[in-house]
Amino acid sequence: MIIVLQKEATEKHLQDIIDRIRRCGLEPHVIVGVARTVIGLVGDKQGLEPQVFEGLPGVEKAVPIMAPYKLASRDAKAEDTMIEVGSAVIGGSEPVYMAGPCAVESWEQILDTAHAVKEAGASILRGGAFKPRTSPYSFQGLGEKGLQYLVEAGRAAGMPTVSEVVNPSDVELVSQYVDILQVGARNMQNFALLRQVGQTRKPVLLKRGLSATVEEWLMAAEYVMAEGNYQVILCERGIRTFETATRNTLDVGAIALVRQLSHLPVVADPSHATGRSDLVVPAGCAAVAAGAQGLLVEVHPNPQRALSDGSQSLTPEQFKQMMGAVTQIAKSVNPEPARYWWNRNAV
Ligand code: PEP
Ligand code: MN
Repeated sequence: MIIVLQKEATEKHLQDIIDRIRRCGLEPHVIVGVARTVIGLVGDKQGLEPQVFEGLPGVEKAVPIMAPYKLASRDAKAEDTMIEVGSAVIGGSEPVYMAGPCAVESWEQILDTAHAVKEAGASILRGGAFKPRTSPYSFQGLGEKGLQYLVEAGRAAGMPTVSEVVNPSDVELVSQYVDILQVGARNMQNFALLRQVGQTRKPVLLKRGLSATVEEWLMAAEYVMAEGNYQVILCERGIRTFETATRNTLDVGAIALVRQLSHLPVVADPSHATGRSDLVVPAGCAAVAAGAQGLLVEVHPNPQRALSDGSQSLTPEQFKQMMGAVTQIAKSVNPEPARYWWNRNAV
């Protein structure tokens, strides 16, 4: 259920309503929107009628939310959530491009990449330091040293950073370095990790699980938000289907759908979605055309020598070309994303 406050509701009204919610054994989440403030109620609401709140001073109405995800739902907040990271606004009027190597391999590698992707138009530097790999014998990342290199390279090129955190016990450490905490596809339902990143106030890039439904993905976002961290960025990175010609299958329809269902920003990762560098550009273009508000792209100065995911990594030159294509698409198809794409009554 959400409680919609009257425009003229005072701070005292808000406090009284919050007290009342807590006395019902529920947790209030105050969501301040541009047009209105709402309070999301989280907890077991069985048998609770909206009328309990509707008579209270400052309350305009109480509305049940049918979806199992509440705080992530478009019903809880009509306008798009915008997340500021450095000078980039994820979920704003223009897509945000995050680029860098799959894994930080050396100081020279990350520094070269940082300058190259920045020059091409990326505004956030990515790089894995803790690498969960399919095989325990593959390169596992440089750990904390990798985070140091990543952040230093980001600073040198003037870019904030994003990196994956794998263990709940590493959340504090990774938070000390990067600007965005990435939760990987394999960890999308690691509820201990979701709660832990929810305890921070860092933006969280939540990748869709390999076999997760849209609802499961949004419920994972709900876990983070239920802890009080509302800065969640959803990342479609391809799902596992019967098709083996590509590494995964980019679920373009899900991008457009989730833009409707949730106010959270949605971005796409065409690198892991396809697994092939020659497909990254068209897949990225498709994602932006479908309403993705940003892309996460693997770029390596020398993909053939990459220690991980070389086959799907673009060279800096290819990334530059990609940026030319996607920015054209973003301009032509998505002039007013907030008003057009998620509006289910628009067509
Ligand atoms: C990554 O971004 O490097 C990564 C491991 O992605 P995913 O979790 O989507 O496989
Ligand atoms: Mn990778």
